[in-house]
Amino acid sequence: MDKSQGRTSREGVSDGADQVTTASGHRGLLMEEPLIFEQGSDGRIGVDLPEVPEHKMRLGALERSGPIGLPSLSEPQTIRHFTRLSQKNYAIDAGLYPLGSCTMKHNPRINEKLARLPGFADLHPLQPRSTVQGALALMDLLAHWLKSLTGMPAVALSPAAGAHGEYCGMVAIRAAIEARGEGRRRVLVPESAHGTNPATAASIGFTVDPIPAGPDGRVDIAAMKAKLGPDIAGLMLTNPNTCGLFERDIIEIARLIHESGGYFYCDGANFNAIVGRVRPADLGIDAMHINLHKTFSTPHGGGGPGSGPVVFSQALAPYVPVPYVVHGPDGFRLVETAGEGSTSFGRLKGYHGQMGMFVRALAYMMSHGADGLRQAAGDAVLNANYVMAQLKDVMTVAFDGPCMHEALFDDRFLKDTGVTTLDFAKALIDEGYHPMTMYFPLVVHGALLIEPTESESKDTIDQFIGSLRSLAGRAKAGDAASFHAAPRLTPRRRLDETRAARQPILRWRSAGGTSQAAD
Ligand SMILES: *Cc1c(COP(=O)(O)O)cnc(C)c1O
Repeated sequence: MDKSQGRTSREGVSDGADQVTTASGHRGLLMEEPLIFEQGSDGRIGVDLPEVPEHKMRLGALERSGPIGLPSLSEPQTIRHFTRLSQKNYAIDAGLYPLGSCTMKHNPRINEKLARLPGFADLHPLQPRSTVQGALALMDLLAHWLKSLTGMPAVALSPAAGAHGEYCGMVAIRAAIEARGEGRRRVLVPESAHGTNPATAASIGFTVDPIPAGPDGRVDIAAMKAKLGPDIAGLMLTNPNTCGLFERDIIEIARLIHESGGYFYCDGANFNAIVGRVRPADLGIDAMHINLHKTFSTPHGGGGPGSGPVVFSQALAPYVPVPYVVHGPDGFRLVETAGEGSTSFGRLKGYHGQMGMFVRALAYMMSHGADGLRQAAGDAVLNANYVMAQLKDVMTVAFDGPCMHEALFDDRFLKDTGVTTLDFAKALIDEGYHPMTMYFPLVVHGALLIEPTESESKDTIDQFIGSLRSLAGRAKAGDAASFHAAPRLTPRRRLDETRAARQPILRWRSAGGTSQAAD
């Protein structure tokens, strides 16, 4: 295809004073990258294997009758294509990733090394039990760590992510309520909750009743009390909450919800801020998911699957889903079905969970030790408070007082500048940083939520603070136009985010309009 007219021309890139577009669309050492289908041409061959006529015969009627529309490229073209695409990704290995609530911290390489040991990496879930005793022992040990760090008596390892863990915990609550012969259906969810909380409750058939946040960004206890009643199934609370604050009334909240006959679900995605410092069992929690991919440094954000184990109190332990590991005289085994007399609510997913993430998370726990985990939580909180303290004279802090693992700003500092939170975040890209979380939590106007994590050095954080201070200065100096034009240095400028969500193009079609197998 003619490279001057296809997707390789960079529409919208060359406006303004910073005209950098070249005829090729390349910039610096970054190549403009057409789709692999646009690069392929018939007859080009990547790997030269001899044809084996007998194999053709063996296929019988299943032999391919025509081309299937896959692109044909040489080996170097293929390698370059995927290498260039990988260079367009921003990654935690490339720089600070300050996304609030996401805990994008360094993934220690020792974890990766252990997860790649053939004894773990080459396992198949249907292998005979006698050949996977080591893997089952590892799951058992991970369960032990999670139970002792939280003080809870039971854990389900299988949930595949945080939101899946919420689902697991809330299904256990539903099972416990049904076992009591009750039809309680109302679940209280604070307004500052992560969006997955109300979505989870609703998807299981609970009705969601929001509790407003008080002026200090925490649950309004008086408003909560007013909502309690005999139809309450439970409460879903995030702690530390999404404003980066510890819910200091949590013991009273637990007492109130139990007194009204409900269960206390805690969204523990932010466990990284408190691990080793407080045990969720001591706070009166009945079920809580833990994002291994946040607290225990397993890769995420495109780098790997999540994993969201759920710990349970004594009250909910009878309902834990299968499979779970038990140890008997003949070694470890997985209990696979909710057998006779068992009150397990059943199975959540195929097989046993994300084995590779179990290995990484346990490697992180064991290499840090309990004291190291406690230190990591302390450093995460210290770094966030440092960011807040260094920025509070130029940006506006949403709530007074110290924060936990993330610093929350609102957009009052941008008032009358013509610059929005979105413009500010886009300008940060040109400074070389992935933006912070924007417009979340919803209870704060134009929110900017920054989570530096404990794995960043003071130098890196100081540089980042320097960029934010300079941007805040430019916004206040009336430089709105440059913010509106940002980002200028990325392969693409501003995308139409509404259309991208509403009318996503998920399938490539050739120029002639014939559909190709390119979903
Ligand atoms: C990340 C997060 C979730 C969801 O976790 P996933 O693994 O993305 O499903 C839920 N609650 C909070 C507070 C989170 O930060």
